[in-house]
Amino acid sequence: MKRLIVYILCLCALLSAPVRAQSILRDAETERFLRDITDPLLLAAGLEPSSITIFLIGDSSINAFAANGRYIGVHSGMILANDNVNELIGVLAHETCHIACQHSLRTRGAAQNAGITSILSMVLGAAAIAAGGGDAGIGLISAGQQAAQRQFLAYSRGQESEADIAGARYLEAVGISPAGLISFFDKLRDQEILAQIRQDPYVRSHPINRTRILQLQDALERSPHKDKPPDVILSERFERIQAKLFGYVSDPVQTLRTYPVSDISIAARYARVYGYHKALEWDLALEEADALIAAEPENPYFHEIKGQILFENGKVREALPVLERAVELAPNQPLIITALGQALVSTEDEDMMARAQPVLEEATRLDRGNTFAWFNLAKTYSWQGKEAHANLATAERFYAAGYAGRAAHHARMAVEAFDRGSPEWLRAQDILAAAGPVLQQQRGRRRR
Ligand SMILES: [Zn+2]
Repeated sequence: MKRLIVYILCLCALLSAPVRAQSILRDAETERFLRDITDPLLLAAGLEPSSITIFLIGDSSINAFAANGRYIGVHSGMILANDNVNELIGVLAHETCHIACQHSLRTRGAAQNAGITSILSMVLGAAAIAAGGGDAGIGLISAGQQAAQRQFLAYSRGQESEADIAGARYLEAVGISPAGLISFFDKLRDQEILAQIRQDPYVRSHPINRTRILQLQDALERSPHKDKPPDVILSERFERIQAKLFGYVSDPVQTLRTYPVSDISIAARYARVYGYHKALEWDLALEEADALIAAEPENPYFHEIKGQILFENGKVREALPVLERAVELAPNQPLIITALGQALVSTEDEDMMARAQPVLEEATRLDRGNTFAWFNLAKTYSWQGKEAHANLATAERFYAAGYAGRAAHHARMAVEAFDRGSPEWLRAQDILAAAGPVLQQQRGRRRR
């Protein structure tokens, strides 16, 4: 049984990141970017962006999918395979229709019936985490998920075709040429001749046939944005995210080959920061981070990465002002706030713990599914002797991670400690109420 792991794409998980495990990558900049390119498409499709969760999956295969009418997942492999930002936007436009057009998933491939629930539970559990827990998350993820390698989710041929047409319409509405989607499909066509096992999941779930390409070419001909190149600012942001992901997932030697030191573009430096860090070349990593900050002093992500490098390198006191600056520049980014909270907590100094408390309270307020922030928040409470609060934060953490039993255990202790009717007491009761049915369900399953 393989649990789904949530990684924060700061450097903390870097060295322990498994090569091909299915994991959710959390990175403030990437998440912001995915929202910024997807939200206009969702609006064009008549959807409310806040009702759709988008998450980045750490998987080198090329894939993107929509599930359960609420979730869009993008593999890191997809972002790395795209030649330009319009390819990614094209794919997202297509996925948007699967949600807006209310398509329902079915399975295809080797294990027709076996594992749909396992894939869906992973996707939905992960999404519930990304969305901040909620009633759905707790049972789904604790149901356990196996990475069902051969199996995949797919829509019917008719629905794929509908998604292409609607996707092209959304692209038109947001002023983007469908040429990107076509060039992406063209690249994948080469994979059609491969044995299924060697194909990327996107090819398996989206058989690319002549009709689809012709249909898209027709849409391109009619598009008023036919020859419009990708947006300059989005392209730059996209290249940075690609570089960052590349440095994060690749071997450092490969990173330096792709982004050689002679390349002093922001993207190249960004890739090298991660590459050097991975190679434990702290000084070189810091040098590149400083160069990034010098180029864009107001960019929160550059301060974030520098702070993380210092922190990882054991220079916590030096990291603090850098991370504080990052938070100042991006006060609504829970992942950056969490990084600052983590650094404060790691000092194990009483004053710092007291400082960390409101920081982590803010992070968990903005991102209720951030188990790492809950973990550190519980630590600050515990350190300050606030045991009831520590239990409630721990209950929240297990709740968000989908451990119903442990969530209930800590919530029960919190219920006993807080005054009846207080906001904390009510919240602990809510967790108990949500965890109860899940526990019963799990017990029932075990008995069967
Ligand atoms: Zn599709």
